[in-house]
Amino acid sequence: MATTQRKPADVSEKQARQVAEAARESEWRKPSFGKELFLGRFRLDLIDPWPAAEPSADADDYLAKLEAYVRSQVDGPRIEREASIPDEVFHGLARLGAFGMKIDKEYGGLGLSNLHYCKALTLIGSVNSSLGALLSAHQSIGVPQPLKIFGTPAQKKAFLPRLAAGEVSAFLLTEPDVGSDPARLGTMAEPVEGGYRLNGVKLWATNGTMATLLVVMARVPGKGITAFVVEGDAPGITVERRNEFLGLRALENSVTRFHDVFVPAENVIGGLGKGLKIALTTLNTGRLSLPAMCVGAGKWSLNVAREWSAERVQWGRPVGQHEAVAKKLAFIAATTYAMESMLDLCCLIADDDSNDIRIEAALIKLFASEMAWQVADELVQIRGGRGYEKAESLAARGERPVEVEQVLRDLRINRIFEGSTEIMHLLIAREAVDAHLSVAGDIIDPEAGLGRKARAGAQAGAFYARWLPTLAVGRGQVPTGYSEFGPLATHLRYVERASRKLARSTFYAMSRWQGKLERKQGFLGRIVDIGAELFAMSAVCVRARAERRDRPEGMELADLFCQQARLRTAALFGALWENTDSLDAKAAQRVLDGRYAFLEEGIVTAPADGAWVAAWQPGPTTVDDVRRRIPPAT
Ligand SMILES: Cc1cc2nc3c(=O)[nH]c(=O)nc-3n(C[C@H](O)[C@H](O)[C@H](O)COP(=O)(O)OP(=O)(O)OC[C@H]3O[C@@H](n4cnc5c(N)ncnc54)[C@H](O)[C@@H]3O)c2cc1C
Repeated sequence: MATTQRKPADVSEKQARQVAEAARESEWRKPSFGKELFLGRFRLDLIDPWPAAEPSADADDYLAKLEAYVRSQVDGPRIEREASIPDEVFHGLARLGAFGMKIDKEYGGLGLSNLHYCKALTLIGSVNSSLGALLSAHQSIGVPQPLKIFGTPAQKKAFLPRLAAGEVSAFLLTEPDVGSDPARLGTMAEPVEGGYRLNGVKLWATNGTMATLLVVMARVPGKGITAFVVEGDAPGITVERRNEFLGLRALENSVTRFHDVFVPAENVIGGLGKGLKIALTTLNTGRLSLPAMCVGAGKWSLNVAREWSAERVQWGRPVGQHEAVAKKLAFIAATTYAMESMLDLCCLIADDDSNDIRIEAALIKLFASEMAWQVADELVQIRGGRGYEKAESLAARGERPVEVEQVLRDLRINRIFEGSTEIMHLLIAREAVDAHLSVAGDIIDPEAGLGRKARAGAQAGAFYARWLPTLAVGRGQVPTGYSEFGPLATHLRYVERASRKLARSTFYAMSRWQGKLERKQGFLGRIVDIGAELFAMSAVCVRARAERRDRPEGMELADLFCQQARLRTAALFGALWENTDSLDAKAAQRVLDGRYAFLEEGIVTAPADGAWVAAWQPGPTTVDDVRRRIPPAT
């Protein structure tokens, strides 16, 4: 049977946006701290008092067991050296139930809360990042999470116990021609008797070389992108390659071909055409895993930075006492405290189900992936030449084998996958301007007729008449505002004022650029980054106050972080209106046109032959299957 990998080249920008828009969850059933923040309404009451964690002796016990196991049985350097997680580690983790941490107890899982799950990932990822990526891809985007939210009882019964027992799952969306833009998806699922026939090629599937259950995104003709649970061993599936990367050397990441693969109709998740919505909803809490690993990296970096900077003496002082290094130590400590506070807060409000956390989870993914990278970069600098040296090389010279360069390499991908920083900016900005679009969208829509524009004009007039005055004054201007926070009150007053300023700036940009605002990515990125800093400041203040009796030093860290964050926020506000965005866009066009090609002379450039994106041909495979099979434990 001939295969039909759809030719994806002719998707316009407008169609791509429409696909993304259709996948958006448009309803807000629960309050959202982040949404209100972008509207200039600082709803501290939504996150303060700090939510209490549901006490769970089982979960605490589990974390202790997991820690004992990874400390004694998992050899992180060996995983890095061999670029592979040993079979016995898979068995050990499976015995501990690590593949079922997020699966409900009734299906054989541990049913951990988001908080405990993320603590487990932080711990495991600190031993080796590839281990964290394995477990996170398996349960945050792999089969367990979409089935938990959208699966039928029969699907849950059929698949979840297998996964809880240690089978590994993967999530396959990306294709050679489909990265950030799913509208180009080419994998097809054609209806046949009793189910669907899948054809296509999927790229970069984490766990894809060894997963026995897959979530596959494929296009059903006339219905749209649909999510399927697919048996990894189904006839017609070939794992064609295991990919290698800058970091995460032990990642089991595949190119997987589907050739006439039969999938039963009952394996559709959540209905035909619902695939992208499922992917996005899954990521609401799924996005918390990656920051959990960033928190681990922050803690690890702080530990190395502290011990090294106190011991290493140059120019008559420990390097940590030279101001240039001291500033880096302060940045690492404050940023780690902020990342952990944001993560714990997101987990807690997800666990008590009180708030919508989609914006907060997206903000922490963005913030933690960017900041952890800076933390690791500063750590390399603090370690000097040793920061650039491999752990094995250090050990061979008789020094402590600290894998700083590896942490830097491993962290880099976090700014690219599960929504690149650029895409996160757009996704969050879309939510930040949602209130405006819902009342004034038709005014700026070139395709709306006069009638729709007039109706929108009246609606918008009423909305802005009510809303704009609320942006003029607030508690942040009252000298005693938030005084219950003691020395941190000044920062919360700042956040309240900054939130209104953020909303005013967004409103001004809407009126100035109207429909063209969506193309002002520099502006939108800064709006979102300000929102992330304000959320981070709120999280540290609320946490520090809640813990001030047991951990008074948290107040110092919260103050330190807020002072640093306020400087970054001020710079972002300034750059909203004073920047080189238009200049850069024009210059970039000239770069693209080759005007500055003379600058590329005088070096040996990268090979000019070979496709940038390989043209994968549909049809049966022409290479050997490189699937990894984990033998049963003996
Ligand atoms: C190690 C690794 C593991 C992965 N694991 C998985 C997995 O398990 N499952 C899976 O399905 N995928 C996986 N991926 C794919 C990953 O999600 C994609 O790499 C990511 O979505 C970005 O797509 P892309 O690489 O094709 O970049 P492109 O989409 O080609 O983007 C290139 C650049 O352009 C920017 N860009 C793109 N569109 C816009 C826009 N509209 N506005 C502004 N900037 C834009 C991007 O941010 C990026 O900087 C993995 C990738 C890697 C490297």
